[in-house]
Amino acid sequence: MSEISLDNVTKQFDSTVAVDDISLTIENGEVMGIVGPSGCGKTTTLRLVAGFETATEGAIRYDGDDVTHVPPENRNVGLVFQSYALFNNMSVLKNVTFGPKMHGVGKSERQERAQDLLELLDIGDLGDRDPQTLSGGQQQRVGLARALAIEPRLLLLDEPMTGLDAKLKQNLRKELGELLDDLGVTTLYVTHDQEQAMSMCDRIAVMNDGLVEQVGSPSEIYESPNNEFVANFVGTSNIFSGSVRNGHVDFGFASVDSGGLPNRDDATLAVRPDDFTLGDGPITAEIQNVFYLGEKVQAIAELDDETEITVELDRYEDHVEKGDRINLNIDTTNVHMIKQ
Ligand code: ATP
Repeated sequence: MSEISLDNVTKQFDSTVAVDDISLTIENGEVMGIVGPSGCGKTTTLRLVAGFETATEGAIRYDGDDVTHVPPENRNVGLVFQSYALFNNMSVLKNVTFGPKMHGVGKSERQERAQDLLELLDIGDLGDRDPQTLSGGQQQRVGLARALAIEPRLLLLDEPMTGLDAKLKQNLRKELGELLDDLGVTTLYVTHDQEQAMSMCDRIAVMNDGLVEQVGSPSEIYESPNNEFVANFVGTSNIFSGSVRNGHVDFGFASVDSGGLPNRDDATLAVRPDDFTLGDGPITAEIQNVFYLGEKVQAIAELDDETEITVELDRYEDHVEKGDRINLNIDTTNVHMIKQ
């Protein structure tokens, strides 16, 4: 276990600044997620922490020791990448004992350690199998067992669930989340899937264009996004400008009760789809599209000034279809004023 810090780290490839002067601390035992759109620098950050890339500027520290120029094999890091990269000519057990063997751990100890990990991950009976004969989810667990077998001071996961079906992802997300909690290994978890990060990580760093836009707990990131980018990347937000005065928010297209929002003339407000209530209310709109997303139903509606909004509907009570004219209100209890 270790505390990891990135201090003003920049990584430049020719003219591309993949990581732009970021500072981030991953506390001892913490699961830190990095989310952000494709190309924002997530994998490069993870590769810098692992030692596969060297920072152009800045320093990476493990427990305060500068490891910026230490090669990956000397960092004792467990890695799980999107391609499992298991050795197909070796049994599952041998895949897991391989790392400890390279680290000089004796035969009986490494076999016991590997078997314990396989049991922990609920694949204790698969030790003799060839990885090629396993399902994607089983291979993912072997990958994880292999990474953990070296008793790493840091676990790095890069999109470890890519290619798995939705149900399996959901199960593994729960299992892996619990396992990481139990193990207490400092973990960096890179994914473009914000739902996975929200459910599994203690804190999340949201990256955009090489920069860290915000670091916080899943609820901080969701409830109090620092800016429009975070508000839109983590969940869906309707961003409106308006003024808050005398107990009302004036959005231009309508005025609603301001709840607890502080007075401000030029406010930018993030209104989540479930902050709207359908029925009465001063906002009129026309339904453009209705999407059934499993548990939730979302609709895209157009305001009279042609602004498109995303609204969450009650699956059982709100029966609307394309072309319907609706009235809406905004419950401002959870509406967040974005700091600028
Ligand atoms: P994705 O979600 O698509 O995997 P990412 O957020 O992990 O994306 P990175 O792989 O870190 O993004 O890439 C960040 C930027 O750095 C991109 O513009 C990418 O093209 C560039 N980049 C990454 N590795 C190299 C390299 N070895 N040489 C040149 N450019 C690179």
